[in-house]
Amino acid sequence: MRKKRFFTSSFAALCLLSATVQGQSLSAHEEYLQFAQNEDGEIHLDDGRTLFYTVKSRSQVNGVEVIRAQVDDPALAEFMDYSSFIITLDHDKQEMSGYLETGSGQFRLQSPSDGNENVFWRKIKPPKMDDRILKNPDTSFMGRLNQEAAGEKDASGRYVIDVFIGFSEQAAQDVGNINTEAQMYVETVNEALNNSQIEGVYLRLVGVGVSPQNPGVVTSVLQDGKEWFKDDIARYAPDLIGLVQRPTDAPGSAGGWGNVPGDIVVIGAPWPGAYRHEVGHNVGGMHCKSEGDTGYNYGFSVRQGRGTAQCGNDLSYYSSPLIMDDEGNVLGTTHSQDMARLWRERSAAMSANRIHKVPFPGETGGRYRMQNYWRADQFLHMENGGLESGAIEQGWWSAQWDIKAVGQDDYVRICNRWRAQACMNVEDGGLQAGAIESGWHSAQWKLEPVEGQPDLVRIRNRWRPDQYLHIENGTPEAGPIQPGWFSARWKLTSTD
Ligand SMILES: [Zn+2]
Repeated sequence: MRKKRFFTSSFAALCLLSATVQGQSLSAHEEYLQFAQNEDGEIHLDDGRTLFYTVKSRSQVNGVEVIRAQVDDPALAEFMDYSSFIITLDHDKQEMSGYLETGSGQFRLQSPSDGNENVFWRKIKPPKMDDRILKNPDTSFMGRLNQEAAGEKDASGRYVIDVFIGFSEQAAQDVGNINTEAQMYVETVNEALNNSQIEGVYLRLVGVGVSPQNPGVVTSVLQDGKEWFKDDIARYAPDLIGLVQRPTDAPGSAGGWGNVPGDIVVIGAPWPGAYRHEVGHNVGGMHCKSEGDTGYNYGFSVRQGRGTAQCGNDLSYYSSPLIMDDEGNVLGTTHSQDMARLWRERSAAMSANRIHKVPFPGETGGRYRMQNYWRADQFLHMENGGLESGAIEQGWWSAQWDIKAVGQDDYVRICNRWRAQACMNVEDGGLQAGAIESGWHSAQWKLEPVEGQPDLVRIRNRWRPDQYLHIENGTPEAGPIQPGWFSARWKLTSTD
């Protein structure tokens, strides 16, 4: 809900000037300003190279600005319309995360350390051990699951796969800002989907968390992690869970692990690129195809150092026979290496691992308090069982209301958080909050704006459009109102 526009102060300009003077390495704040302000620029890698970048897109997600950029890297010149550079900015804290893939290695923005306040684009050392997967010869989940699942789409018609990222305390320390970091992981997948022209689906970060547990990047985390973060999982209802650990010497350690297919992965904090690979396993993807393998769910490698996410993970692509580089190399085959097809077929099922609780973009939804404008001390609640208005206490779930859109229409249902079966309706004539049936128009409401008072709404019934929610007579009712009644104006305050 970030509204404020980011700076125009002379202070910012000063910082930029000093950045120019300092030359090759910048302070964390200067590096942040460079990306906040400029549509292109240069980055200095710790292998001595300087690369130029151009911003391709900027978007705001959960108060984090996501930048995708194209890098002028001669070693990747054969890929057209390809982005391999992700920057995520936290404008409130003025911090950032960054992940860059070049033709010769992956880099991340390394925070200052050892008394040195400057940051570096540091080459990521691949983990000593790759992940290994248990091969499931039963590939019947491919295609089938998609047909069975209804899927969850946003207003644009795309499937939304909600993601929760849980860090260990140590991993959180290593990465710095967990909000920009987690958003960056999610964007590595979205970038690869984009590059691979897999449309109609995207990952959305819905929550982050921190836990003291850090056994390392081992398979036990795939079970135990759901227990560590069970409250977050209940709250955010993610379709995918990503766990981030500081690597340890524990037996069975790897760069990352993911269930195939599944809803959970674990990666080591030093290796952001592992996330894209492990999520590919969750979708149902396997590694490079070997002799005797069947199915089309494999990664593809053009040659050494040119592998898609499941097979080498050098490039921000999932395998696809529809993608061809400038030199005529195709990044997949229709018979064996077509992760793009698997993604398309599995999107619906993946988006419906859990019913989403965080409203989709543009969707009216969330948990709200409903305060009357005429009597500001009067809130709607069900603390005593029935629907009432009155003073409430901060912690009362009975005074919190889920307001959710009904299908694609302009109407919402209003249901109590504490008594989840109790939804406002006028089915029996008078206003009540109780169990409803899905088709009832009497339980659907339109939130109408009040002219000149943008933070207030009138609440009008769909079945009986002359009826509005009001407390003109002291208690909650639905009925005809006069335009001037303050008692029929409501302030909805998000409780998130
Ligand atoms: Zn793997």
